[in-house]
Amino acid sequence: MRLKEYHKPATIDEALELLRRNSPRTAVLSGGAWLNADGPNEIEAVIDISDLGLNKIVRTGSPLLMRIGTSVTLQTLVDELKDAPGLSVIATSAHAMAALNIRNQATIGGAIVTADSSSPLVTALLACDAELVIKAAEERTVSLSAFLSYRERILAEKVLITAIQMPVPSADTVAVYHRVARTPRDYPIVCVAARCAVKDGIAGNMRVAIGGVAPTPIRLNLLEFALEKKPVNAALNEAINAAISRLSPRGDWLGSAEYRLEMARVLIRRAVLEAARIQ
Ligand SMILES: Cc1cc2nc3c(=O)[nH]c(=O)nc-3n(C[C@H](O)[C@H](O)[C@H](O)COP(=O)(O)OP(=O)(O)OC[C@H]3O[C@@H](n4cnc5c(N)ncnc54)[C@H](O)[C@@H]3O)c2cc1C
Repeated sequence: MRLKEYHKPATIDEALELLRRNSPRTAVLSGGAWLNADGPNEIEAVIDISDLGLNKIVRTGSPLLMRIGTSVTLQTLVDELKDAPGLSVIATSAHAMAALNIRNQATIGGAIVTADSSSPLVTALLACDAELVIKAAEERTVSLSAFLSYRERILAEKVLITAIQMPVPSADTVAVYHRVARTPRDYPIVCVAARCAVKDGIAGNMRVAIGGVAPTPIRLNLLEFALEKKPVNAALNEAINAAISRLSPRGDWLGSAEYRLEMARVLIRRAVLEAARIQ
């Protein structure tokens, strides 16, 4: 970067004022893991948001929400959510993002803004019904799915993501993460997160998200709908076939389109059956 200015505001309003200027070209600086390594070199000014108090995880509101400040690091997600019922999949997937040094630096906000096709964390957050709290002139919430679909347009409004929040699930909710990669510690080629609550053999609140088959991770809404309040075993084959037929991944050096589709089929089945506690 050819930086001319470095700002470290003490309030969100001050940060937004700096961000809204037409020049110099300004970026939000969170952990800096991406910005310092791969960031666009036309950036002339950065706004370091580490003094804004956005690094906490709190439970708030009724119905209860888990609110994760945008500056919470990936390693903090691992440490603080590893035992959270129904949300420990966020810890598992944050761990799968990168090695410890990067996890200590990179933040949840930065990971969402830079999410690639198979981001484990973003895949898990989709399955947890995550939404973003975004501040521009006004504060608003945007579902993570909508943010990923309109990411460039939303970021062009010069917004600050302040938090990522999701409903705290019922105690009987199980969430799981499965993936295929070249080696056990490698970034995934295809990954799936599934989450549901089971009562009397019937699954409810089914959520399934997949990475590695589209430009960003996506929710499989039709599959969720096909399994909701049904005996999972009986409905699964048809639901997976229908979901797979709608996917059109691009092949690359990590895996052909056919390989990705086949892994999608295997991982969806594995994740849904485990979340539904079916052997
Ligand atoms: C050596 C190395 C290895 C890496 N390995 C991996 C890997 O294996 N897997 C992986 O997924 N990533 C990897 N990354 C990339 C990096 O870890 C992720 O992109 C990371 O999550 C970025 O988070 P950050 O907080 O450091 O973001 P930053 O670099 O600070 O920011 C990233 C982008 O997000 C914007 N942004 C950040 N926070 C906000 C906010 N609150 N509101 C609005 N915009 C915001 C910034 O302006 C910038 O455009 C690696 C990076 C490095 C340097």
